[in-house]
Amino acid sequence: MAGKIKEIQAADFEKEVLAKDKVVVDFYSTECPPCEALAAKYESLSNIYGDDISFVKIFRQGNRDLAAQLDVSGSPTVLFYQNGERTGKTLTGGILRSELMEGLDAMLPADKAAELHGKIEPVVTNTDVVVLGGGPAGLTAGIYLAQAHLNTIVVDTALPGGYVATTHQVSNYPGFIEAQQGFMLSHFMSEQARENGVEFRSAVEVSKVDLNSKSLVVDGFETIEAKKIVIATGSRPRPLNIPGEKEFAGQGISYCATCDGKYFEDKEIVVIGGGNSSIEESLFLSKFAKKITIIHQFETLQANKVAQKKIFADEKVNIMFEHEPREFKKYGNMDMAVVVENLKTGEKSEIRTNGVFVFVGFIPNLEVFHDNLELDQWGYLETDETMETNIPGVFAAGDVRTKQYRQITTAVSDGTIAAITISKELT
Ligand SMILES: Cc1cc2nc3c(=O)[nH]c(=O)nc-3n(C[C@H](O)[C@H](O)[C@H](O)COP(=O)(O)OP(=O)(O)OC[C@H]3O[C@@H](n4cnc5c(N)ncnc54)[C@H](O)[C@@H]3O)c2cc1C
Repeated sequence: MAGKIKEIQAADFEKEVLAKDKVVVDFYSTECPPCEALAAKYESLSNIYGDDISFVKIFRQGNRDLAAQLDVSGSPTVLFYQNGERTGKTLTGGILRSELMEGLDAMLPADKAAELHGKIEPVVTNTDVVVLGGGPAGLTAGIYLAQAHLNTIVVDTALPGGYVATTHQVSNYPGFIEAQQGFMLSHFMSEQARENGVEFRSAVEVSKVDLNSKSLVVDGFETIEAKKIVIATGSRPRPLNIPGEKEFAGQGISYCATCDGKYFEDKEIVVIGGGNSSIEESLFLSKFAKKITIIHQFETLQANKVAQKKIFADEKVNIMFEHEPREFKKYGNMDMAVVVENLKTGEKSEIRTNGVFVFVGFIPNLEVFHDNLELDQWGYLETDETMETNIPGVFAAGDVRTKQYRQITTAVSDGTIAAITISKELT
């Protein structure tokens, strides 16, 4: 095993972890993309911190009893131990290098931590193309670019897969007779990209993006310099910006049915919005909830006709047309209220509910870019037909780009066009 890391079995846990002064433990699995994303960070940090803190790896599938005893139910899970006691946060999922460093630093005196930070050497990586965002658009661009023998790095602030990974079922992506679970479809796409030779930097922090010189910094120490850049950073749910939303986000207010629907088994839910994602996600939530109230500002729904037909036929669903939410209140665990205004009469009323889902559109993920990119009136990137933005050599693909329909197929199409254009220019 590379780096200053020791792979151990459950039988060694007492000796190698509990009896030692300072230890970090990574429970990993095979065929686990977030484990692979962590492995490079774990190895590189073991070379920095490894003389002061023991770095241990345990194969979770081969040491299930130990994992269960320690309440480790997913991979990767990183635990910190000091003098035989668990300390600090338990890290899981797409673990950032900075989170790992925070946990390691907390076990050391501040001056020692600062001394170790000073040992981190900057790295410069040169590549043909860097793709920012590993959703369907970025992964498709990656596949085409790698197949054209261009060195391609896909950089994602989360794990690759993009929005599809959190979508419960995808039934309209061609090539599959049965509807696919979103996370499987995105797994196929990222593995296809990897198989074709795309390199990944996953669950990383991105800074200092300079589109004119085509460089960016990953995790504070690696500068990637490229000949071309593809921006495929997608979009994120638009907040309502009303009182109570920020305070109760994640504590009763959710933006992801796939992630949180399961917590509302036999409960009452309010859904805000009447477009495609709102109605489709309400249909999904209807599997769990006993009652759904949809609040929509217009007098008709904006969703596609098939979804509309299904929602009108769903007896659990009640739609309040021409109403807007004005405030969220919380009375207790799973006990909330939405203050709504009747847009016709101006009258306000309170709807008591167990939880709220907000689906009112998206905003493009462009905060990391500070160059003069041309945007449309809604803040999405303008491109020409080849997907090139106003900055030469900088392309945009997928939901981050101006377009009428944002779907996996249209994202894949953009990624294809950008990649073929780049391939023709660079080969
Ligand atoms: C609830 C829901 C259900 C949907 N269902 C369907 C469906 O059934 N069929 C369909 O065709 N479409 C569906 N869509 C739409 C589809 O998911 C999107 O159109 C598609 O994912 C867009 O792909 P993308 O690659 O442009 O962006 P995304 O999938 O959003 O991927 C963008 C990626 O960029 C990363 N990123 C963000 N910021 C940065 C940064 N600064 N640096 C690096 N990386 C960054 C993100 O982590 C993410 O991985 C659905 C959307 C939603 C919200």
